[in-house]
Amino acid sequence: NSVIFWFRNDLRISDNQALTQAKEYADKHQLPLHAIYLATPAQWQQHDQAPIQLDFIERQLNQLSQSLAQLGIPLSMFNVNDFQAQMDWLITQQQDGHIKQVFAGLEPEWNERQRDQTLLDSGFPITFTDEHCLLPPMSVKNQHGMMYKVFTPFKNRWREIMQSVPVEPLGKLTAFAAPTQAQPITLNCDKTSSQQWPTGEKAAHQLLRQFCKQNLADYGEQRDYPALHVTSQLSPYLAIGILSPRQCLAALLAEFPNAIVEKTPAEMWLNELIWREFYRHLLVAFPKLSRNQNFNALANNIQWQNNPTDFQKWCDGRTGYPIVDAAMRQLNTTGWMHNRLRMIVASFLTKHLLIDWRWGEQYFRQKLIDGDLAANNGGWQWSAGTGCDAQPYFRIFNPIEQSKKFDPDGKFIKDFVPELADVNAKQLHQANTFTEKGYLISEQYPLSIIEHKAARERAMATLSVMKKQN
Ligand code: FAD
Repeated sequence: NSVIFWFRNDLRISDNQALTQAKEYADKHQLPLHAIYLATPAQWQQHDQAPIQLDFIERQLNQLSQSLAQLGIPLSMFNVNDFQAQMDWLITQQQDGHIKQVFAGLEPEWNERQRDQTLLDSGFPITFTDEHCLLPPMSVKNQHGMMYKVFTPFKNRWREIMQSVPVEPLGKLTAFAAPTQAQPITLNCDKTSSQQWPTGEKAAHQLLRQFCKQNLADYGEQRDYPALHVTSQLSPYLAIGILSPRQCLAALLAEFPNAIVEKTPAEMWLNELIWREFYRHLLVAFPKLSRNQNFNALANNIQWQNNPTDFQKWCDGRTGYPIVDAAMRQLNTTGWMHNRLRMIVASFLTKHLLIDWRWGEQYFRQKLIDGDLAANNGGWQWSAGTGCDAQPYFRIFNPIEQSKKFDPDGKFIKDFVPELADVNAKQLHQANTFTEKGYLISEQYPLSIIEHKAARERAMATLSVMKKQN
C-alpha cells in the first residue's frame, strides 16, 4: 500500500507541489513513496507528439530516475498505451491494494482534464495540484466573472492579482529514504535525437540564470532578431515542466524585484510568461480550442485552398522566400523556431498560401521540441486571424519586409539555407523569381511558389468572410 506521485508534464523535483505533498503524506502515514510515469504511445501518436520531444522526455525521465533514487524514491515507467489505459491501470493497482493515495499536477488540455475528472468522479484516491501556471485557470476573471478574451486586460488583472501571491519556489526536497538503484527508462515510440538540448534541472536552471543575467535587460529591444540568439530558449523546459513558471518568474524578480508592480527592462519577458498563462487559461475556458475548432466562428466560412504541393514546399523550406525557408529548415533540423519566424511562416501558410491553420499547427506539433497545445493553438489562431485577440485578417505579414527588418544582414538565412551562403545581403530579401536578367536570387535556390502582391489580394478577398457584420 503505497503513496504514488504520478509524473506528467511536470518532470522536475524542485518546486513540484504535488511531489512535495506526496512525500509529506507518505512521511505522515509512514508509507512507501513511489514515483511513476505512465507512458501512452497510442495517445502520443493521436496527438502528433514530436519524436524529438519524446526523446527529450525520455532523457529527462532518466535524469529524474537517478536524482530520485538518491532521495530514496524509486521511479518506474509503465507502458499503458492511452489515457483510458492509464485510468484502468491505476484502478487495478488500487483494487489490488497497491495504492493508498495518488498525487499529480493538473494539465490544461481537454482529454487530460476529462481523464482527471473521471478519476475524481469515480472516487479514486487522487489529489491534484494546479500549478502549470502561476495563477490557476479560471482565477483571472473580468468584472462579469468570465475569462478574458483579449490579452491586455487579462495581463493587467493577472499582474494585479500576482502582487499578493508569493513567488518563492518551494524549497529543496529532502531525502525520503536510503538511496535506491535507479531504473533505466526507455519509451517505446519513435524518437529523434534531442541531444542538442541538455536535460536535467541543473542544466535548465543554469540556462535560466544565464539568460536573466545576460539577456533579460535587452530582451525588449533584441528579441525579434533571430540571428542574435537572445531569447531564453527555455520553451522546451517549460513545455514538459523541467522548469516551473514560478521558478522563471522568481529568476526574473531576482534581477528586477519590482517587475510586477512597475515597468522595468524585464517588462517584455514578463509579458511572454503571461502570454503563456493566457493561452492556458483560454484552453480551459474554451474546450473547443482543444478540439481543433476556430475560436472565431466567422472563420468557419473561410474557403481554404489547401494545396498539398504548396504545403509540402512550405514544410520542406522550399517556398522561394528565404526567410520562410530558413525558418522552416530551422524547425526541421533543430526542433525549435524563433518566435518572430513562427509568426512569419504561420502568416505565409495561412494568408499567402491560404492553407488551413490546422495543417500548420499539426506540422509544428510533429516537429517541435517545445510542442504545447495551448501556445501552439494560440499562436496559430492569432497568426491566421481566427483566434481571440485576433490579429485582423487583413493584416498580412510581408515576408520581404519582415526579412529586411529582422534579418538585415541575412545572417540567420545563411545559417539555414546554405545554397544562399554567397548571395549578398541586399539580394536575399526577395522572392526568387526568374526574369530576363536571370534568377533574382540564385539558380541553386527554389523559385518562389507565389507572388506576394497577388497572394495578398487573394487572401484579402478570401478572408473578408471574417469581416464583422454591423
Ligand atoms: P522567450 O521569448 O524567452 O519567452 C519565454 C517563455 O515564454 C517561452 O519559453 C514560452 O514558454 C513563453 N512564451 C513566449 N512567447 C509565447 C507566446 N507567444 N505564447 C505562449 N507562450 C509564450 N510556444 C511553445 O512553447 N510551444 C508551442 O508549441 C508554440 N507554438 C507556437 C506557434 C506559433 C504559430 C507561434 C506564433 C508561437 C508559438 N509558440 C509556442 C510561442 C513562442 O513562439 C515560443 O514560446 C517561443 O518562441 C519560445 O522561445 P523562447 O523560449 O526563447 O521564448
